[in-house]
Amino acid sequence: MAGNWKMFKTPAETTAFFEKFLPMVAGATGRDVLICPPFVNIAAAVAATAGSNVGVGGQNLYWSTKEGAFTGEVSGPMLKAAGCRSVIIGHSERRQFFGETDETVFKRTKAALESGLQPVVCVGELKEERESGRTNDVLGTQLSGGIGGLTADEFAKIVIAYEPVWAIGTGLVATPEMAQDAHAFIRSHVAAKFGNNAAAAVRILYGGSVKPDNVKGLMAQSDIDGALVGGASLKPEDFASIVNF
Ligand code: PEP
Repeated sequence: MAGNWKMFKTPAETTAFFEKFLPMVAGATGRDVLICPPFVNIAAAVAATAGSNVGVGGQNLYWSTKEGAFTGEVSGPMLKAAGCRSVIIGHSERRQFFGETDETVFKRTKAALESGLQPVVCVGELKEERESGRTNDVLGTQLSGGIGGLTADEFAKIVIAYEPVWAIGTGLVATPEMAQDAHAFIRSHVAAKFGNNAAAAVRILYGGSVKPDNVKGLMAQSDIDGALVGGASLKPEDFASIVNF
């Protein structure tokens, strides 16, 4: 169960969040819990979660793993050294506003793996792509370009997040059946490339307006293994209720 804080909260607000949140999820077993705050809050998040069952991740990384003249960028080794265990890659907001492509998703995924970080690779279709019946084509293209070039060992370390773009931050959640169909397609695409065992093992998270009142129905689907949560991960009560669904 992963929270994507996007561009919200200061370091002080991060500390305050975890003071409330950690006791609420301390008993959560059988699931991994991850919060991905903005870069400037990673230190506060790592300090606050030390010794807890909650991990910290980045929301993006640059694809060079070497230090260098890349103003404004943050590398995988830096995230790792700061205490992150995971990193979101290819979020639709990065694809929409910051020129992310399947090619750069692949480069970032490789860099994350090389840095010892678990990539959470996002895919998802636009509203018009769904309405014109192209959802599976789009997902297939994003998966082939973004992760198709990984080795089997590399693939075994990634998490996939299915996030229909029309459901992100809109309150329009995909029905559990729609999400299940997309997840089943993703798993079959993975099976064709990496084999049935890899497909069965990979965790596929659903993201798009997940809230305390709809998480149960989504998580009841056989191919939905977790959630990537934006808005509702900002409130300790809401995200705890999602984690403890
Ligand atoms: C997200 O940011 O990945 C997301 C799914 O946002 P929200 O839960 O707010 O729709």
